[in-house]
Amino acid sequence: MATVSGFSAQDEKGNAVNCDAHGNNVAFQCNCGRPVLAVILANQKGYDISHPTECPGCGARYWVTANTVGRTLTIHSIAIT
Ligand SMILES: [Zn+2]
Repeated sequence: MATVSGFSAQDEKGNAVNCDAHGNNVAFQCNCGRPVLAVILANQKGYDISHPTECPGCGARYWVTANTVGRTLTIHSIAIT
């Protein structure tokens, strides 16, 4: 479990991702422009690859890892096949 208030976010390639992180939650912008919510708590949506969160706009799926030392979040995307 991580408290991620004020963290910044990047994608897997290191590109900055607009986000609003508070408590255990983070909202970030999908590539389609819609906001996506992830919850950094065990077994909640977006917690890990087995519990992804889904964009309500395009269906893209994501999960988030937190680096508590660097105060950064990495937004991992799951390719749609
Ligand atoms: Zn989307």
